[in-house]
Amino acid sequence: MARLAYFLSFLLLTVTTTAYADPSPAAEEPAYVELAGRAPAQVITKCTVPNTAALTFDDGPYWFMREVIRQLEAANGKATFFVNGNNWACIYNTELSGNIRYAFERGHQVASHTWAHKDLTTLTWDQIHDEMWRVEQAITRITGAVPAFMRPPYGNQNQLVRDASGARNQTIVLWDVDSGDSTGASVDQQKATYDAVVKRRPSTILSLQHEVQWKNVYETLPYVISKLKGAGYKFVTVADCLGRSKYQRVGPAEARNANWKC
Ligand SMILES: [Zn+2]
Repeated sequence: MARLAYFLSFLLLTVTTTAYADPSPAAEEPAYVELAGRAPAQVITKCTVPNTAALTFDDGPYWFMREVIRQLEAANGKATFFVNGNNWACIYNTELSGNIRYAFERGHQVASHTWAHKDLTTLTWDQIHDEMWRVEQAITRITGAVPAFMRPPYGNQNQLVRDASGARNQTIVLWDVDSGDSTGASVDQQKATYDAVVKRRPSTILSLQHEVQWKNVYETLPYVISKLKGAGYKFVTVADCLGRSKYQRVGPAEARNANWKC
């Protein structure tokens, strides 16, 4: 009976947003069950719409999100943010949740990077769902939208992670260009990476970048945008570069309340 009750609550979570308003403590630590009949998540590494570049920014929300948005909008483009719940900062911080709302309202894509940036391949089924669920809940509270895409921290995923994402109706997104900004690449090295990409001129680009370092947002990104724009790429969200919807569904956002805490 408890399993059935959980199954029903899972369905509620995925099909309604009002479920999030329920402050019931039971919602804090659900016991996850296997959801039979759902396919494992698809793993995307490339865009499909020609001449698109989906620049993706991980590990926020952080203080530079609006600058990323400003730069991409100046190039008539859109960004995708794979946000954590509690990594560099807490997603419920007033300014940062405001940034997420701002990004959402202006048509940029907000997607899941899971709650605390753990390596999902080291976790159990229940733990994986917990990492996924907490940030989905936060995104839905803040925007009203249930994200349709997730990126596992470090890009690490296994069958269990694909099954869990699939059960949550999500698509896993990796990348085909790594800026190197999270593994110690200097601004010049990152520029050289994009110079080499432009030389190859692939039909599409799905980048891995991060919004949490000042120099990468203020020094690398203007160069990347100018270079790729010059090569004829259009900056679109991950969903748009695949011709899909950003969100599973969109309902009303929740007003800030006592549950908004990390
Ligand atoms: Zn990350």
